[in-house]
Parts: sequence; C-alpha cells; structure tokens
Amino acid sequence: MLNLRDTLAQQRQQGLYRQRQAVSKRDGSHIIVEGKSYINFASNDYLGLANDARLIAAFKEGADRYGVGSGAAQLTTGYSSAHQALEERIADFLGRPRALLFGSGYMANLGVITALLSRNSTILLDRRSHASLLDAALLSRAKLKRYHTQELASLHQRLNTTPSSGLIISDSVFSMDGDIAPLPTLIVLSKEQQLPVLIDDAHGFGVLGKNGRGCLEHLAVSNNDVEIYVGTLGKACGTSGAFVCGSEALIETIIQKARSFIYTTAAPPAIAHATLCSIDIIEKESWRRAHITELITRFRQGAAQLGLSLTNSDTSIQAVLIGNNDAAIAASEYLKSQGLYVSAIRPPTVPKNTARLRITLCSHHQENDVDQLLSALESWQT
Ligand SMILES: *Cc1c(COP(=O)(O)O)cnc(C)c1O
Repeated sequence: MLNLRDTLAQQRQQGLYRQRQAVSKRDGSHIIVEGKSYINFASNDYLGLANDARLIAAFKEGADRYGVGSGAAQLTTGYSSAHQALEERIADFLGRPRALLFGSGYMANLGVITALLSRNSTILLDRRSHASLLDAALLSRAKLKRYHTQELASLHQRLNTTPSSGLIISDSVFSMDGDIAPLPTLIVLSKEQQLPVLIDDAHGFGVLGKNGRGCLEHLAVSNNDVEIYVGTLGKACGTSGAFVCGSEALIETIIQKARSFIYTTAAPPAIAHATLCSIDIIEKESWRRAHITELITRFRQGAAQLGLSLTNSDTSIQAVLIGNNDAAIAASEYLKSQGLYVSAIRPPTVPKNTARLRITLCSHHQENDVDQLLSALESWQT
C-alpha cells in the first residue's frame, strides 16, 4: 500500500509542504489573492506583457479568427497560419533558419533532447539546470554527466574519452540564483569535445540583450556557436508555450521524432497570434529592459546596505539566501503580511540549507515598489 498520509506528514514536518493559492485578479504589478492585494514579486512576466492591453486585444482577435482550441495535433490539422507566422517571426527575430513551437518549455526540452539522443550519447548538464532538462536527460537514456558551473573550464580533464555523440546542455540564466551561465567557456568545451550546445533561455529571451534577443545577444555570442536554442513564451512574452530554434535539419528531425511535439494537441492559435504582438513589443520597447536594469541596481544597493545575503545576479531574478526552510517560509509570510508577494524556495528546487526568497524585478514595478520591499526586508531583519 502507498502510505500517502505518512509521506504528507513528513513533508509538512520538514517544512517542505507545497500549496497553491488562487489569484483572482491581476492588475499591473498587483495581484489579488483571497481578497487581499499584493505587489507581485513572484512572477516571470518580466515585461508586464501578460496584462498588456495590446496583447489582450490581439488574443481576442486571434480567438475571433481561429476559435479557441486548435482541435488537433500540429501534424494533423492543429497547426494554423498563426502558428506558422509566429515561427517565422521568431526565426527572423533571432536570425535563425527555423523555429518550431511546443506547448510548453517543459515539453520542448523533453521533446528536443529525446529526439536527438539515445543510449549511446553523452550529456554534459549543468547541475543547476531546470528540472525539465534533467528529466529530458534521464528519459533520453543517454550517459549523464552533471557538472558544477565552476568546473566547466576544467571539465575536459574529467572526461577520459571524447564522447562520440551527445550534447552540452545548460540554462542561460539559472532560475533560482539569477546568474548567467559562462557561455564562452561552454563554447570552448563544445569545440574541444565536438559536442553541440543546447541553451535553454527561458529567463533570457525577451528580457536580456539590447533588443531582447536573449542571452546570446547579451553576451555577444554567435548563433553559430549554439546549435540549439530553446526559448519559452510564458515568461517575458507574457503568453504561453515554447519554441526551439536551429538549422533546417534540426527542426525537421525534431518534427519527425519529438514525442512531446507529435502526441499532443497544438496550443490555441490565439496564443500564437497574441505572441506575435509580444515580439513586436519586445523589439520596439527597449525602455522596459532599461527600467528593469535600474530596478536591479536599486534593489541590490539597498539590500547590500541591509547586509542581506544575495546571489551574484545582475538579472531580474534576485535571491535572498536564508538557509533554513521554516525561516524562509516565515520570511515570505512576513512579507505577505506587508502586502508583498515573494516566494520562498526550498529543496529539492534548491540545495539543502539554501532555502531562499526569490524576488523577480519586472518592468511594471515602480521604484517605490522596490523601496517598499527593501523597507519590509529591513523590518523583517529586526
Ligand atoms: C520555466 C522554465 C521552463 C519550463 O517552461 P514552461 O513553458 O513553463 O513549461 C524550462 N526551462 C527553464 C529554464 C525554465 O525556467
């Protein structure tokens, strides 16, 4: 028999119990949860597009034109001209030959990695990579070598033989720390080992780089050095879904083989239609990224004055390290009592004894929102 009650009790006892809370309304940087209003520092809607009037109008227009559900998988009749237009727009925006849409980032990672690798392949994967990349690696049955980011420069010494096939895989921005993977070092390894690179730019696409083209633009890395680029649409784009970009042959291979692409209903076309509007805004409104940069500086200066322990991040993701699980929950509860919604992140999402507050700074936050957060963190400390 499964002993569910005991497992749940244990989960509670360790301060690891997880619960959802229904958001009844969103309005700019504010959310309403159980009748109470909070400034939301716990979303990945970095550019504030999820509630943008232009996106909402585009979504409605898409629904009027295409209906609500897509009705089928992409390989039958679920692929609409809205999906096609979005794929072309993304490929063009990123300067890549092709793009292919998936229902979510999780599904994109599962599909792409299992389509390309098999038991005889080797995967080098950053230990802090997103759960979907780890799950994909396990599902692919490839030999998995996980490394710590700081080991990357000397990783070739640990590989006694050069793998005959495989991939080097990493997040661009580590989602619980906010620092950016050392892509140039990763590319050196890629050339040395003759292994292509897959970068998951979930937290970079739209929000990093002068024009919002993501981590490669931000670090001035050439598309040629990163063969496989995955981006998601549920974060900076403010919609839902994901895409993979790469060569003609790569995309065609994924279409033939990726089970999380083949055996699932296509995303609603109206979502793709609205995402076209997101890309336009990302391209045109660089002030959003400039504003985020100002908020990051403001937050980090204030937090340093308070003596808070921050990770080394200059992105929207800012983490305040706490350590103990219950203490992290208590801090998050305290901030909620002050009208600030900030997530407490616990193991197994982060390593043991590194429970933390995860704060995301978005373009719809005002300087005053950051100041309120800092003063609540100050009163929490005392
Ligand atoms: C959010 C995220 C995903 C999953 O994307 P969804 O579209 O939410 O499924 C994948 N990789 C990384 C690095 C992420 O942060």
